[in-house]
Amino acid sequence: MKIALIAMSGVRAFNEELTRLGMTLPGFVERSQVIASLPSLSLLTLAGATPERFELEYHEVPDIKNFPVLPACDLAAISTYTAQVKDAYALAERYKDVGVTTVIGGLHATALPHEALRHCDAVVVGEGELSWTQLLEDFERGCLQRVYEPNGRQFDLALAPLPRFDLLDPEEYNRLTVQTQRGCPWKCDFCAGSVMLTPKYKIKPVAKVIDEIRAIKQIWPKPFIEFADDNTFVNKKNSKMLMRALADEGVRWFTETDVSVAEDAELLSLMREAHCAQILVGFESPNAAAVDGIELNRNWKKKKVDSYKAAIDRIQSHGIAVIGCFILGLDGDTSGVFDDIRCFVEESGLFQVQITVMTPFPGTPLYARLKREERLLEETEWGKCTLFDVNFTPKQMSVSELEQGLISLGKQLYSEESRSGRVTAFRRQLRRAARSR
Ligand code: SF4
Repeated sequence: MKIALIAMSGVRAFNEELTRLGMTLPGFVERSQVIASLPSLSLLTLAGATPERFELEYHEVPDIKNFPVLPACDLAAISTYTAQVKDAYALAERYKDVGVTTVIGGLHATALPHEALRHCDAVVVGEGELSWTQLLEDFERGCLQRVYEPNGRQFDLALAPLPRFDLLDPEEYNRLTVQTQRGCPWKCDFCAGSVMLTPKYKIKPVAKVIDEIRAIKQIWPKPFIEFADDNTFVNKKNSKMLMRALADEGVRWFTETDVSVAEDAELLSLMREAHCAQILVGFESPNAAAVDGIELNRNWKKKKVDSYKAAIDRIQSHGIAVIGCFILGLDGDTSGVFDDIRCFVEESGLFQVQITVMTPFPGTPLYARLKREERLLEETEWGKCTLFDVNFTPKQMSVSELEQGLISLGKQLYSEESRSGRVTAFRRQLRRAARSR
Protein backbone atom coordinates (compact mmCIF):
# COMPACT_ATOMS: atom_id res chain seq x y z
CA MET A 1 0.00 0.00 0.00
CA LYS A 2 1.22 3.45 -0.82
CA ILE A 3 0.92 6.55 1.36
CA ALA A 4 1.43 10.08 0.04
CA LEU A 5 2.46 12.45 2.83
CA ILE A 6 1.49 15.92 1.64
CA ALA A 7 2.51 19.17 3.33
CA MET A 8 0.71 22.36 2.36
CA SER A 9 3.43 25.01 2.27
CA GLY A 10 3.99 28.62 1.24
CA VAL A 11 2.04 31.58 2.62
CA ARG A 12 1.25 34.87 0.88
CA ALA A 13 -0.51 37.79 2.48
CA PHE A 14 -4.19 38.10 1.56
CA ASN A 15 -3.76 41.87 1.33
CA GLU A 16 -2.32 42.63 -2.12
CA GLU A 17 -0.41 45.72 -0.98
CA LEU A 18 1.35 43.62 1.66
CA THR A 19 2.16 40.90 -0.83
CA ARG A 20 3.66 43.50 -3.20
CA LEU A 21 5.64 44.99 -0.32
CA GLY A 22 6.84 41.55 0.71
CA MET A 23 8.17 41.06 -2.82
CA THR A 24 10.06 44.31 -2.94
CA LEU A 25 11.48 44.69 0.57
CA PRO A 26 13.93 42.00 1.53
CA GLY A 27 13.16 41.00 5.09
CA PHE A 28 9.45 41.73 5.12
CA VAL A 29 7.59 38.41 5.48
CA GLU A 30 11.04 36.81 5.21
CA ARG A 31 10.61 34.81 8.38
CA SER A 32 7.23 33.45 7.34
CA GLN A 33 8.75 32.46 4.01
CA VAL A 34 11.51 30.61 5.84
CA ILE A 35 8.89 28.80 7.90
CA ALA A 36 6.84 28.04 4.82
CA SER A 37 9.85 26.58 3.01
CA LEU A 38 10.79 24.20 5.83
CA PRO A 39 9.86 20.56 5.34
CA SER A 40 6.98 19.27 7.44
CA LEU A 41 8.67 17.69 10.45
CA SER A 42 5.37 16.25 11.66
CA LEU A 43 4.89 14.27 8.43
CA LEU A 44 8.53 13.15 8.35
CA THR A 45 8.10 11.99 11.96
CA LEU A 46 4.95 10.02 11.10
CA ALA A 47 6.92 8.53 8.21
CA GLY A 48 9.47 7.39 10.79
CA ALA A 49 6.67 5.63 12.70
CA THR A 50 5.25 3.95 9.58
CA PRO A 51 5.75 0.17 9.35
CA GLU A 52 8.03 -0.92 6.49
CA ARG A 53 5.24 -2.74 4.66
CA PHE A 54 3.91 0.65 3.50
CA GLU A 55 5.46 2.53 0.58
CA LEU A 56 5.95 6.24 1.33
CA GLU A 57 6.30 9.43 -0.69
CA TYR A 58 6.66 12.99 0.65
CA HIS A 59 5.35 16.00 -1.29
CA GLU A 60 4.97 19.72 -0.68
CA VAL A 61 2.22 21.81 -2.26
CA PRO A 62 3.08 25.52 -2.27
CA ASP A 63 0.25 26.38 -4.64
CA ILE A 64 -2.59 24.01 -5.43
CA LYS A 65 -3.09 25.64 -8.86
CA ASN A 66 0.34 24.38 -9.85
CA PHE A 67 -0.35 20.87 -8.61
CA PRO A 68 -2.30 19.45 -11.55
CA VAL A 69 -1.35 15.78 -11.16
CA LEU A 70 -2.13 14.03 -7.90
CA PRO A 71 0.62 11.67 -6.73
CA ALA A 72 -0.84 8.17 -7.00
CA CYS A 73 -1.48 6.56 -3.60
CA ASP A 74 -3.96 4.55 -1.54
CA LEU A 75 -3.91 6.97 1.41
CA ALA A 76 -3.22 10.72 1.27
CA ALA A 77 -2.16 12.19 4.64
CA ILE A 78 -2.29 15.98 4.50
CA SER A 79 -0.78 18.40 7.01
CA THR A 80 -1.65 22.08 6.79
CA TYR A 81 -1.35 25.47 8.45
CA THR A 82 -4.55 27.45 8.95
CA ALA A 83 -3.78 29.90 6.12
CA GLN A 84 -3.66 27.13 3.49
CA VAL A 85 -6.45 25.00 4.88
CA LYS A 86 -8.83 25.78 2.01
CA ASP A 87 -6.27 24.40 -0.43
CA ALA A 88 -5.79 21.36 1.81
CA TYR A 89 -9.55 20.75 1.75
CA ALA A 90 -9.67 21.14 -2.05
CA LEU A 91 -6.81 18.67 -2.41
CA ALA A 92 -8.51 16.17 -0.11
CA GLU A 93 -11.70 16.45 -2.14
CA ARG A 94 -9.83 15.84 -5.40
CA TYR A 95 -8.37 12.69 -3.87
CA LYS A 96 -11.77 11.58 -2.56
CA ASP A 97 -13.24 12.05 -6.05
CA VAL A 98 -10.81 9.46 -7.41
CA GLY A 99 -11.43 7.03 -4.54
CA VAL A 100 -8.32 7.70 -2.47
CA THR A 101 -8.72 7.74 1.33
CA THR A 102 -7.77 11.08 2.89
CA VAL A 103 -6.59 12.04 6.35
CA ILE A 104 -5.94 15.58 7.62
CA GLY A 105 -3.96 16.49 10.73
CA GLY A 106 -2.16 19.45 12.24
CA LEU A 107 -3.06 22.40 14.44
CA HIS A 108 -6.02 23.61 12.38
CA ALA A 109 -7.61 20.16 12.19
CA THR A 110 -6.99 19.79 15.93
CA ALA A 111 -8.88 23.03 16.60
CA LEU A 112 -11.69 22.33 14.13
CA PRO A 113 -11.94 18.57 13.49
CA HIS A 114 -15.59 18.73 12.41
CA GLU A 115 -14.88 21.37 9.80
CA ALA A 116 -12.04 19.22 8.42
CA LEU A 117 -14.24 16.12 8.40
CA ARG A 118 -16.52 17.73 5.84
CA HIS A 119 -13.65 17.42 3.35
CA CYS A 120 -11.77 14.22 4.22
CA ASP A 121 -12.29 10.68 5.51
CA ALA A 122 -10.51 10.96 8.86
CA VAL A 123 -9.00 13.63 11.10
CA VAL A 124 -6.10 13.27 13.51
CA VAL A 125 -6.54 15.49 16.56
CA GLY A 126 -3.53 16.43 18.70
CA GLU A 127 -0.12 14.77 18.60
CA GLY A 128 -0.08 12.57 15.51
CA GLU A 129 2.29 9.97 16.96
CA LEU A 130 -0.44 8.86 19.39
CA SER A 131 -2.80 7.71 16.62
CA TRP A 132 -0.79 7.08 13.46
CA THR A 133 -0.04 3.36 13.70
CA GLN A 134 -3.59 2.61 14.89
CA LEU A 135 -4.95 4.64 11.99
CA LEU A 136 -2.83 2.64 9.52
CA GLU A 137 -4.01 -0.67 10.97
CA ASP A 138 -7.64 0.49 10.79
CA PHE A 139 -7.12 1.62 7.20
CA GLU A 140 -5.68 -1.76 6.21
CA ARG A 141 -8.59 -3.56 7.85
CA GLY A 142 -11.11 -1.25 6.16
CA CYS A 143 -12.45 0.19 9.42
CA LEU A 144 -10.99 3.69 9.47
CA GLN A 145 -12.50 5.82 12.24
CA ARG A 146 -13.64 9.37 11.49
CA VAL A 147 -11.69 11.08 14.30
CA TYR A 148 -8.51 9.96 16.06
CA GLU A 149 -8.21 11.71 19.40
CA PRO A 150 -5.64 11.58 22.19
CA ASN A 151 -8.35 10.93 24.83
CA GLY A 152 -6.18 12.27 27.62
CA ARG A 153 -2.99 10.49 26.46
CA GLN A 154 0.33 12.35 26.19
CA PHE A 155 3.02 11.34 23.73
CA ASP A 156 6.34 10.65 25.42
CA LEU A 157 9.09 12.33 23.37
CA ALA A 158 11.51 9.65 24.60
CA LEU A 159 9.61 7.36 22.20
CA ALA A 160 9.78 9.76 19.26
CA PRO A 161 10.59 7.98 16.00
CA LEU A 162 13.55 9.17 13.93
CA PRO A 163 12.07 11.44 11.22
CA ARG A 164 12.58 10.11 7.66
CA PHE A 165 14.84 12.92 6.43
CA ASP A 166 15.88 10.55 3.65
CA LEU A 167 12.48 11.16 1.96
CA LEU A 168 13.54 14.75 1.17
CA ASP A 169 15.31 15.89 -1.97
CA PRO A 170 18.69 17.12 -0.66
CA GLU A 171 18.80 19.87 -3.33
CA GLU A 172 15.60 21.49 -2.09
CA TYR A 173 16.61 22.43 1.45
CA ASN A 174 19.42 24.20 3.24
CA ARG A 175 17.62 24.42 6.59
CA LEU A 176 16.31 21.31 8.31
CA THR A 177 14.18 20.98 11.41
CA VAL A 178 14.68 19.02 14.62
CA GLN A 179 12.35 19.19 17.60
CA THR A 180 13.80 19.25 21.12
CA GLN A 181 10.62 20.02 23.08
CA ARG A 182 6.86 20.51 22.92
CA GLY A 183 4.53 22.80 24.86
CA CYS A 184 5.24 25.92 26.87
CA PRO A 185 4.74 26.85 30.53
CA TRP A 186 3.19 30.15 29.43
CA LYS A 187 -0.23 30.67 27.94
CA CYS A 188 -0.26 33.64 25.58
CA ASP A 189 -3.82 34.17 24.44
CA PHE A 190 -2.82 34.35 20.75
CA CYS A 191 -0.49 31.31 20.76
CA ALA A 192 -1.26 28.72 18.12
CA GLY A 193 1.88 26.70 18.73
CA SER A 194 2.44 23.33 20.34
CA VAL A 195 0.52 24.48 23.45
CA MET A 196 -2.52 23.51 21.38
CA LEU A 197 -1.25 19.94 21.18
CA THR A 198 -0.12 19.40 24.75
CA PRO A 199 -0.80 21.09 28.08
CA LYS A 200 2.58 19.85 29.39
CA TYR A 201 6.08 21.15 28.72
CA LYS A 202 7.88 18.09 27.33
CA ILE A 203 11.53 17.53 26.50
CA LYS A 204 13.06 15.13 23.99
CA PRO A 205 16.06 13.30 25.48
CA VAL A 206 19.35 14.89 24.42
CA ALA A 207 20.66 11.64 22.89
CA LYS A 208 17.63 11.48 20.59
CA VAL A 209 18.13 15.07 19.44
CA ILE A 210 21.77 14.31 18.63
CA ASP A 211 20.75 11.14 16.73
CA GLU A 212 18.43 13.22 14.58
CA ILE A 213 21.13 15.78 13.85
CA ARG A 214 23.54 13.00 12.86
CA ALA A 215 20.89 11.50 10.57
CA ILE A 216 20.59 14.89 8.88
CA LYS A 217 24.37 15.22 8.57
CA GLN A 218 24.51 11.95 6.66
CA ILE A 219 22.49 13.63 3.91
CA TRP A 220 23.55 17.30 4.33
CA PRO A 221 27.15 17.41 5.58
CA LYS A 222 26.87 21.04 6.75
CA PRO A 223 23.21 21.63 7.56
CA PHE A 224 21.70 24.68 9.22
CA ILE A 225 19.32 23.35 11.87
CA GLU A 226 16.12 25.08 12.88
CA PHE A 227 14.80 23.69 16.13
CA ALA A 228 11.08 23.23 15.60
CA ASP A 229 10.43 24.34 19.17
CA ASP A 230 8.17 26.97 20.64
CA ASN A 231 10.25 27.64 23.75
CA THR A 232 13.52 25.72 23.90
CA PHE A 233 15.28 26.79 27.10
CA VAL A 234 12.59 26.50 29.78
CA ASN A 235 14.36 23.65 31.55
CA LYS A 236 17.79 25.21 32.09
CA LYS A 237 19.46 22.01 33.37
CA ASN A 238 18.43 19.99 30.34
CA SER A 239 19.27 22.92 28.05
CA LYS A 240 22.86 22.95 29.32
CA MET A 241 23.18 19.21 28.70
CA LEU A 242 21.85 19.74 25.19
CA MET A 243 24.28 22.60 24.53
CA ARG A 244 27.27 20.55 25.71
CA ALA A 245 26.25 17.70 23.41
CA LEU A 246 25.64 20.06 20.47
CA ALA A 247 29.04 21.71 20.81
CA ASP A 248 30.69 18.61 19.32
CA GLU A 249 28.34 18.38 16.35
CA GLY A 250 29.64 21.46 14.53
CA VAL A 251 26.24 22.57 13.20
CA ARG A 252 24.91 26.10 13.26
CA TRP A 253 21.35 26.44 14.48
CA PHE A 254 18.42 28.70 15.25
CA THR A 255 15.64 28.40 17.78
CA GLU A 256 12.76 30.18 19.50
CA THR A 257 12.82 30.94 23.21
CA ASP A 258 11.37 33.22 25.83
CA VAL A 259 13.47 36.07 27.19
CA SER A 260 14.45 34.22 30.40
CA VAL A 261 17.41 32.78 28.50
CA ALA A 262 19.14 36.13 29.11
CA GLU A 263 19.15 35.52 32.86
CA ASP A 264 21.57 32.58 32.70
CA ALA A 265 25.08 33.63 31.68
CA GLU A 266 26.39 30.06 31.75
CA LEU A 267 23.67 28.93 29.36
CA LEU A 268 24.44 31.83 27.00
CA SER A 269 28.13 30.88 26.96
CA LEU A 270 27.24 27.25 26.28
CA MET A 271 24.91 28.32 23.46
CA ARG A 272 27.74 30.24 21.82
CA GLU A 273 30.04 27.22 22.16
CA ALA A 274 27.27 25.06 20.69
CA HIS A 275 27.27 27.24 17.51
CA CYS A 276 23.96 29.01 18.12
CA ALA A 277 23.56 31.52 15.28
CA GLN A 278 20.29 33.22 16.11
CA ILE A 279 17.39 33.05 18.50
CA LEU A 280 13.92 34.40 18.01
CA VAL A 281 12.29 35.98 21.07
CA GLY A 282 8.63 36.98 21.23
CA PHE A 283 8.76 40.37 22.94
CA GLU A 284 5.34 41.20 21.45
CA SER A 285 5.57 44.89 22.40
CA PRO A 286 7.96 47.28 24.15
CA ASN A 287 4.96 48.77 26.00
CA ALA A 288 3.76 47.39 29.34
CA ALA A 289 0.17 48.40 28.59
CA ALA A 290 0.18 46.30 25.43
CA VAL A 291 1.62 43.10 26.94
CA ASP A 292 -0.51 43.42 30.08
CA GLY A 293 -2.83 40.41 30.25
CA ILE A 294 -1.71 38.61 27.08
CA GLU A 295 -0.04 35.81 29.07
CA LEU A 296 -2.91 34.24 30.90
CA ASN A 297 -1.13 32.19 33.60
CA ARG A 298 0.87 34.79 35.50
CA ASN A 299 0.97 37.86 33.29
CA TRP A 300 4.62 36.83 32.79
CA LYS A 301 5.31 39.04 29.77
CA LYS A 302 4.20 42.17 31.64
CA LYS A 303 6.67 41.28 34.42
CA LYS A 304 9.52 40.97 31.91
CA VAL A 305 8.89 43.94 29.62
CA ASP A 306 11.18 46.37 31.50
CA SER A 307 14.11 43.95 31.13
CA TYR A 308 13.93 43.65 27.33
CA LYS A 309 16.74 46.02 26.35
CA ALA A 310 19.18 44.65 28.93
CA ALA A 311 18.27 41.10 27.87
CA ILE A 312 18.97 41.82 24.19
CA ASP A 313 22.32 43.38 25.09
CA ARG A 314 23.30 40.41 27.27
CA ILE A 315 22.34 37.78 24.67
CA GLN A 316 23.97 39.58 21.75
CA SER A 317 27.14 40.22 23.79
CA HIS A 318 27.51 36.43 23.77
CA GLY A 319 27.66 36.48 19.97
CA ILE A 320 24.08 35.31 19.51
CA ALA A 321 21.91 37.40 17.19
CA VAL A 322 18.40 38.15 18.44
CA ILE A 323 15.41 38.36 16.11
CA GLY A 324 12.80 40.26 18.11
CA CYS A 325 9.12 39.63 17.36
CA PHE A 326 6.48 42.28 17.83
CA ILE A 327 2.74 41.96 17.43
CA LEU A 328 0.78 44.94 16.15
CA GLY A 329 -2.83 45.56 17.12
CA LEU A 330 -2.73 44.26 20.69
CA ASP A 331 -5.59 45.65 22.75
CA GLY A 332 -3.22 47.97 24.64
CA ASP A 333 -1.80 49.41 21.38
CA THR A 334 -2.67 52.94 20.35
CA SER A 335 -1.59 54.45 17.03
CA GLY A 336 1.65 55.42 18.78
CA VAL A 337 2.79 51.79 18.79
CA PHE A 338 4.44 51.99 15.36
CA ASP A 339 6.82 54.74 16.46
CA ASP A 340 7.37 53.00 19.80
CA ILE A 341 8.51 49.79 18.10
CA ARG A 342 10.71 51.67 15.60
CA CYS A 343 12.43 53.54 18.47
CA PHE A 344 12.80 50.36 20.55
CA VAL A 345 14.40 48.51 17.65
CA GLU A 346 16.86 51.37 17.06
CA GLU A 347 17.74 51.83 20.73
CA SER A 348 17.97 48.15 21.67
CA GLY A 349 20.45 47.21 18.93
CA LEU A 350 18.32 44.22 17.91
CA PHE A 351 19.98 42.31 15.08
CA GLN A 352 16.74 41.62 13.28
CA VAL A 353 13.06 42.24 13.75
CA GLN A 354 9.81 40.57 12.80
CA ILE A 355 6.51 42.41 12.90
CA THR A 356 3.16 40.71 12.49
CA VAL A 357 -0.42 41.63 13.22
CA MET A 358 -2.36 40.03 16.03
CA THR A 359 -4.00 36.98 14.47
CA PRO A 360 -6.95 35.12 15.93
CA PHE A 361 -6.14 31.51 15.03
CA PRO A 362 -8.99 29.07 15.64
CA GLY A 363 -8.77 27.24 18.95
CA THR A 364 -6.91 30.04 20.75
CA PRO A 365 -8.27 32.00 23.73
CA LEU A 366 -7.82 35.12 21.58
CA TYR A 367 -10.18 33.78 18.90
CA ALA A 368 -12.80 32.89 21.52
CA ARG A 369 -12.52 36.31 23.17
CA LEU A 370 -12.72 38.33 19.93
CA LYS A 371 -15.68 36.24 18.84
CA ARG A 372 -17.40 36.90 22.17
CA GLU A 373 -16.70 40.60 21.80
CA GLU A 374 -17.99 40.52 18.17
CA ARG A 375 -14.67 41.87 16.92
CA LEU A 376 -13.88 39.22 14.31
CA LEU A 377 -14.28 40.63 10.81
CA GLU A 378 -14.73 37.27 9.06
CA GLU A 379 -15.10 34.38 11.49
CA THR A 380 -13.98 31.62 9.16
CA GLU A 381 -11.82 33.41 6.60
CA TRP A 382 -8.81 31.25 7.45
CA GLY A 383 -6.90 32.56 4.44
CA LYS A 384 -6.36 35.72 6.47
CA CYS A 385 -4.42 33.85 9.16
CA THR A 386 -1.15 34.81 7.50
CA LEU A 387 0.09 36.97 10.42
CA PHE A 388 0.06 39.96 8.06
CA ASP A 389 -3.66 40.39 7.38
CA VAL A 390 -6.01 42.13 9.79
CA ASN A 391 -9.15 40.11 10.56
CA PHE A 392 -10.43 41.82 13.70
CA THR A 393 -11.45 45.24 14.92
CA PRO A 394 -8.56 46.69 16.95
CA LYS A 395 -9.47 48.24 20.28
CA GLN A 396 -7.75 51.61 20.00
CA MET A 397 -7.33 52.23 16.27
CA SER A 398 -9.15 51.51 13.04
CA VAL A 399 -8.49 48.50 10.81
CA SER A 400 -7.00 50.75 8.17
CA GLU A 401 -4.74 52.53 10.70
CA LEU A 402 -3.41 49.12 11.69
CA GLU A 403 -2.93 48.00 8.08
CA GLN A 404 -1.25 51.22 7.03
CA GLY A 405 0.84 51.30 10.22
CA LEU A 406 2.10 47.78 9.50
CA ILE A 407 3.06 48.74 5.95
CA SER A 408 4.73 51.98 6.93
CA LEU A 409 6.64 50.40 9.86
CA GLY A 410 7.63 47.53 7.55
CA LYS A 411 9.03 50.00 5.02
CA GLN A 412 11.08 51.70 7.74
CA LEU A 413 12.36 48.57 9.49
CA TYR A 414 13.08 46.53 6.36
CA SER A 415 14.69 49.20 4.22
CA GLU A 416 18.16 48.21 3.08
CA GLU A 417 19.58 51.07 5.15
CA SER A 418 17.90 49.93 8.40
CA ARG A 419 18.78 46.29 7.87
CA SER A 420 22.43 46.93 7.11
CA GLY A 421 22.61 49.43 10.00
CA ARG A 422 21.45 46.73 12.41
CA VAL A 423 23.95 44.21 11.03
CA THR A 424 26.81 46.73 11.36
CA ALA A 425 25.79 47.59 14.93
CA PHE A 426 25.65 43.90 15.85
CA ARG A 427 29.14 43.31 14.43
CA ARG A 428 30.40 46.29 16.44
CA GLN A 429 28.82 44.80 19.56
CA LEU A 430 30.53 41.46 18.87
CA ARG A 431 33.94 43.15 18.54
CA ARG A 432 33.38 45.07 21.80
CA ALA A 433 32.32 41.87 23.59
CA ALA A 434 35.34 39.95 22.22
CA ARG A 435 37.74 42.68 23.47
CA SER A 436 36.23 42.54 26.96
CA ARG A 437 36.51 38.72 27.24
S1 SF4 B 1 5.74 32.20 25.27
FE1 SF4 B 1 5.63 31.75 23.07
S2 SF4 B 1 5.31 29.54 22.93
FE2 SF4 B 1 4.84 30.14 25.03
S3 SF4 B 1 2.63 30.46 25.04
FE3 SF4 B 1 3.61 32.45 24.67
S4 SF4 B 1 3.67 32.64 22.41
FE4 SF4 B 1 3.28 30.46 22.90
